[in-house]
Amino acid sequence: PATPIDTDALVIGAGPVGLFQAFQLGLLGLSAQVVDVLPQAGGQCVALYADKPIYDIPGVPVCTGRELAERLLQQIAPFRHGLHVGHEVQTLRPLDDGRFAVGTGAGPQFLARSVFIAAGVGAFTPRRIKVAGLEAHEQRQVFHHPDDLAPFAGQRVLVVGGDEAALLRAATLAELPQTTEVTLLHRRDQFSAEAGLLARVAALRADGRLRVCIGQITAAQTQGDRLASVTVLDAEGVETQQALDVLIVCQGLSPRLGPLADWGLALERKLLPVDVATFETAQPGVYAVGDINTYPGKKKLIVCGFHEATLAAHAAHDRLRPQERGPLLYTTSSPLLHRRLGLA
Ligand code: FAD
Repeated sequence: PATPIDTDALVIGAGPVGLFQAFQLGLLGLSAQVVDVLPQAGGQCVALYADKPIYDIPGVPVCTGRELAERLLQQIAPFRHGLHVGHEVQTLRPLDDGRFAVGTGAGPQFLARSVFIAAGVGAFTPRRIKVAGLEAHEQRQVFHHPDDLAPFAGQRVLVVGGDEAALLRAATLAELPQTTEVTLLHRRDQFSAEAGLLARVAALRADGRLRVCIGQITAAQTQGDRLASVTVLDAEGVETQQALDVLIVCQGLSPRLGPLADWGLALERKLLPVDVATFETAQPGVYAVGDINTYPGKKKLIVCGFHEATLAAHAAHDRLRPQERGPLLYTTSSPLLHRRLGLA
């Protein structure tokens, strides 16, 4: 296993609240490492509504989910915290010396003096097609929301899904110069995406470059060690076999509380109860901020998470560096904060 990274704070989740948590920790002079299972930072803002506008961030009349994530990343850049995307935190274990051993399976390992759980509604994982025999072909012939489509050129590709993510991939593949046999499979002949993309798909469909099939996969057939075809059941109850080289699944992401439930922390309806003065859980040194926590009056809003992260950072700082306790410093006027922000 990799040598553990030593850090003052380990932040689980790079959603808006986890990112702002890292900012507040940095201001207080604490080092932090941020981990997220998704391939990018931004949590729900990027995974669920990247291009939709948000109107209730203080001082920002409007920005999209993606823009908010970009600005938060820009804001934490001066602190040079570590950001580890594509890794799920699987284990969290208190050690005798007061630190926590945090593990991500085969990925990075951490030794942290405090832990901030900003896990939102849980680790986002792609919704899979629940049909026996598909899992064995993942990453070889079965892909979930792949970003790079170039390797699939010239092949027989079945794209499953009915939203923006599925349509964009199906259209991009159908437009490749190499003849790529693309079929878009969805439960209903009804698709949700912005008008331009819908028109693009309709044109490719009319041209015969993109085949649309209505139905769902009910079985998979393997030949040797390859996925050869799937059985598709249509709305009339008729089953057909669809031969393929590649299966691209875009059925959205669903949050999974996952390993968090095994860390010995008290949960209340899948949420972590916290002390509202410190946002500490019942486990000293472990804080919970954002959508994952619960307390009287809790509102699952970004602005509330920002407040929670601020108080949690101060609580952790007081606990880890009691000798540094002093008056509250303002970013406007404190030379120390300016130095930490890389301004002086
Ligand atoms: P999240 O954004 O959920 O991020 C948590 C992150 O933790 C995820 O990326 C997840 O993958 C990761 N994670 C979880 N477990 C693990 C693990 N074990 N290992 C590694 N990573 C893990 N709020 C507003 O204030 N204003 C709005 O206008 C608004 N609009 C919204 C619109 C929609 C459609 C939705 C769905 C929500 C909206 N919200 C809005 C709510 C807002 O998005 C959430 O309150 C906010 O995202 C919570 O931030 P978070 O950082 O706590 O959690």
